[in-house]
Amino acid sequence: MPPLPRADLPEVVSTDQPEIAHLAGLAEVRSAFAWFRTQEAQFSRWQLEMARIPAPPFGETARGEWLKQRFQELGLEDVHSDEVGNSFGTYRGSGKQLIALSAHIDTVFPAGTPLNVRQQGPRLYGPGVSDNGAGVTALLAVAAALQKAKVPAGLSVMFVGNVGEEGEGDLRGMRHIFSHPPWRDAIRYSLVLDGAGSDTIVAQALGSRRFEVIVRGPGGHSWSDFGAPNPIAVLARAIHGFTQSPVPAAPKTTFNIGVIRGGTSVNSIPESASMRVDIRSTSVVEMERLEASLRRELERAVEEETRASEQRSLSQRRSSGLTREIVTIGSRPAGELDPNARMLQVIRAVDTHLGNAAQIQRASTDANIPLSLGREAIAIGGGGAGGGAHTLQEWFDSAGRELGLKRILLTVLALAGVRE
Ligand SMILES: [Zn+2]
Repeated sequence: MPPLPRADLPEVVSTDQPEIAHLAGLAEVRSAFAWFRTQEAQFSRWQLEMARIPAPPFGETARGEWLKQRFQELGLEDVHSDEVGNSFGTYRGSGKQLIALSAHIDTVFPAGTPLNVRQQGPRLYGPGVSDNGAGVTALLAVAAALQKAKVPAGLSVMFVGNVGEEGEGDLRGMRHIFSHPPWRDAIRYSLVLDGAGSDTIVAQALGSRRFEVIVRGPGGHSWSDFGAPNPIAVLARAIHGFTQSPVPAAPKTTFNIGVIRGGTSVNSIPESASMRVDIRSTSVVEMERLEASLRRELERAVEEETRASEQRSLSQRRSSGLTREIVTIGSRPAGELDPNARMLQVIRAVDTHLGNAAQIQRASTDANIPLSLGREAIAIGGGGAGGGAHTLQEWFDSAGRELGLKRILLTVLALAGVRE
């Protein structure tokens, strides 16, 4: 998801630049960099192959299997998946602790979405090709480079293709990993690869709440039962009221009605209707205020439609029987990285070394989970450029991928430590 610029954050002054320059000069790292330079054809192949495997929320199994096969081909250790479908492979270091380098494998596109994935020159097109084709490809590229160059790492690097980042997935893949004590305790740093680009560092977790609003009524025939309360009309009234809720520009707060469903035919009064609502804010207070407004407007809509229905049916039978329900379908915790955290110092030093300008941002990513637990985590892009995320017009351009991959590799190695 496109993060929000946060220009008001203090710049982190890095103290690690000589260390990064030294790291980048090591023979193994230079050989990994050289490998990146020659492998764009392989990277695009991975990316296209992966994007052609559907991975709707809760339907990521086939893509997870594909990723495990790649992990195996690359020679990672302990390749396996867990109960929820996260795929793992490890590059063994000498230490007990590890860095989780992860990329979500799910997409926002429902099952059956036509995946017209294709390549035209340096550009790849198709749903999910960048979000998160770019992240998963970077994951594989870094795994391959470490294996080929045999870089002797301190911490182990655990490669994770996780499920459930998008939408209703509600970060379930990451939640699962961090709810298991052996992993939770072993993971010292979480580096999340999400989407394309090299110009952002998501170090602050944007919170969100998502709801399914369901309204039910008696239904009936559009002619003979005229007057019965209409659940779609209730939603329309509720939307009209809710979307007029004032939101502050700062702290940035947003709402969206993303899906609306209901009814069966043009000449039937619907028995039910539902909508999905997304509320986001950098402030928990604002999120709660909007949630309260949604609940209030729904109550008001039910009352109004009940009254209107009584008016309509004055000459006919009295009708009633509207029920409503608000189900929480997502709740993402907020959190933020300490400005003095090692991960921030390292990525800043890496960016300075590479001459890369990057901005600290707040967004909702897999990093929300470790950040909300007070753990060190950031989310960055897989390099290259991308656009049209969450649309069928999504694209990825490989120009600049090499920079993104060097950035990820150097960050991982600086955090892991390299034995010489
Ligand atoms: Zn994503």
